[in-house]
Amino acid sequence: MTNETIFDKIIDRTIPADILYEDDYVLAFKDINPQAPIHFLVIPKIQIVTANDINDQNAELVGKLYVAAAKIAKQMGFADDGYRCVMNCNNDGGQTVYHIHLHVLAGKPLGWPPYQETLKTH
Ligand code: 5GP
Repeated sequence: MTNETIFDKIIDRTIPADILYEDDYVLAFKDINPQAPIHFLVIPKIQIVTANDINDQNAELVGKLYVAAAKIAKQMGFADDGYRCVMNCNNDGGQTVYHIHLHVLAGKPLGWPPYQETLKTH
């Protein structure tokens, strides 16, 4: 599955986003619906659909998402206070955009566990 997502439109500037960082491989922009005082997404510029599609061939690119997150954390001044990186996968993980993205959440102490317990019978 390689259907275009809203993130392709952000990469090619067809729709606007509040961009924090860009290099040849990744783009970082503020989440439109923030879940913390600081909440941005780091995405690869080529589509990897879900975390299940991470493999030996694209591992270096995926690592660059974390490199960018750490750079931005230092630039924005919250690296020492701390932050959370999350990648949701598929339905149970809460993924809604099928182009992998690292959520970076910061700006306050974040609760753990990060979800409300709901019992689910498969
Ligand atoms: P997911 O639920 O797939 O882990 O996360 C997708 C994230 O993308 C959500 O947090 C959502 O708020 C964000 N998002 C969806 N559409 C847009 C958009 O058009 N612009 C921006 N900046 N964020 C978006």
